[in-house]
Amino acid sequence: MAYVKPGNPKLIVDLNKLRHNIEYVKRMCAKDGVQIAGVIKGCTGLFPCVEQFERAGVQFIGSSRLEHLAELKEQGVQAPLLMVRIPMISEAEDVVRICEYSLNSELATLKTLNKHARTQGKIHNVILMADLGDLREGWWDKEEMTDVAEIVENELENLHLAGVGVNVGCYGSVLATTEKLQELVDVAEKIEARIGRELEIISGGATSSLMRIMDGNLPERINNLRVGEGILLAYDLPTLYGYDYQNMHQDVFTLRAEVIEVKDKPSHPVGEIGFDAFGHRVQYEDRGIRKRALLGLGKVDYGDPAELLPRMQGIQILGASSDHTILDIQALADQGKEIMVGDVLEFDLNYATMVYLTNSGNIDKVFI
Ligand SMILES: *Cc1c(COP(=O)(O)O)cnc(C)c1O
Repeated sequence: MAYVKPGNPKLIVDLNKLRHNIEYVKRMCAKDGVQIAGVIKGCTGLFPCVEQFERAGVQFIGSSRLEHLAELKEQGVQAPLLMVRIPMISEAEDVVRICEYSLNSELATLKTLNKHARTQGKIHNVILMADLGDLREGWWDKEEMTDVAEIVENELENLHLAGVGVNVGCYGSVLATTEKLQELVDVAEKIEARIGRELEIISGGATSSLMRIMDGNLPERINNLRVGEGILLAYDLPTLYGYDYQNMHQDVFTLRAEVIEVKDKPSHPVGEIGFDAFGHRVQYEDRGIRKRALLGLGKVDYGDPAELLPRMQGIQILGASSDHTILDIQALADQGKEIMVGDVLEFDLNYATMVYLTNSGNIDKVFI
């Protein structure tokens, strides 16, 4: 018989709060004539989460991972699926089979998509990506991009050129300013002049472009944004950029982890110091004897312990190995708050810890 875990650690996902966030962002965007792709890679495409996006009626459901989208297709998701990581040639056949839309930046890949679309008797929709300075995907040379748009339009008969898009912020930390996004509209209009018709979709980026909607200075023709973080966590816009996001829930996800040891110990390791479990030389601060707690989960589950956000004040995360997390709880003890073995502590997530935790087979996912 398979081992059934008693329940900790677990990730609690509040679907009502998620639904609220989706509806809120969707409404905010709709006022500016912008539709959204709900990007679900951050939560590993967890199906109950995706259902909330679908019920809210988003324009597309997108992921960077074809395996997420394949699973959704299998589960019967009806919303058009959008592959947001430009496809590998080796997965082009599956992209056409699984997704209605994909973002693209290479003619060779487009030709392969076209070939498979023909074989499968389909028209696959493509959005061509412009690189406007963030230096991840997209054409830097906009003349070449326009030439390729013309080839897609006139020669690749099983592709439909649905529009253009941009991504900023992910690598180069470039901001989605009005000027940047206007550059995308200019590229779109150059392509439209060349092919002699309007493009349906001008996709102006991800969560960071919501700032333009909140400031009321999104260029008029941008009509799609691809939003993940700004709905799932709603953390970056208020925390990094100081936007008012009070109407959004920042606690859609709650990590619950169980305390497995509580002891007073020295804060500096005792003995000759070599390397930690991951081959790093670590500096340890000597603060004398402190009260510490261990949690029964570790880096394998969430990545970097420094990125876990304890809900309870007075908990300091000291570090972790693969399967243990080490906390300093002396500040709590000083306030007379006792943490005991078997207690469960709660944490908020950021993007990286959400990605790891939703992926971890060690973590029970509970949907409320
Ligand atoms: C991940 C991704 C998004 C969504 O980004 P968020 O910051 O989570 O909103 C949008 N577009 C592309 C191309 C992506 O890779």
